[in-house]
Amino acid sequence: MSHTDFFTLSTPREGLIPITRVVQAFVDKSGIRDGICVVFTPHTTSAVTINENADPDVRDDLILGLDAAFPDRPEFVHMEGNSHAHLKSSCVGASETVIIEDGKLLLGTWQGLYFCEFDGPRTRKCYVKILEG
Ligand code: ZN
Repeated sequence: MSHTDFFTLSTPREGLIPITRVVQAFVDKSGIRDGICVVFTPHTTSAVTINENADPDVRDDLILGLDAAFPDRPEFVHMEGNSHAHLKSSCVGASETVIIEDGKLLLGTWQGLYFCEFDGPRTRKCYVKILEG
């Protein structure tokens, strides 16, 4: 048995948006107790990641670090002018996979799921695929 669904987000210019509760609600709705949950963003300047859920400063530091690693360079030729956002998207990745155990996302105590916006504000789509097994 499997279930695919999606949700939309209104994003800021840049940032990590907590989505653990939204994704857990999809798991609850699916009724699947044990399996795999894939969270996927179909955009080229956003990403999905897992990181610390306690101190929100970590999210800001991640953006700061990614900005330092992937600055907007004058050498970039992509005419849309957002190559730094495309680089961040590919580096962080378009999806995460989380084990579902006893109906709950099997995340560490300090882990949360985040939608990463690198070129907002936009309305974004995020898919959730839940597989039983
Ligand atoms: Zn572009």
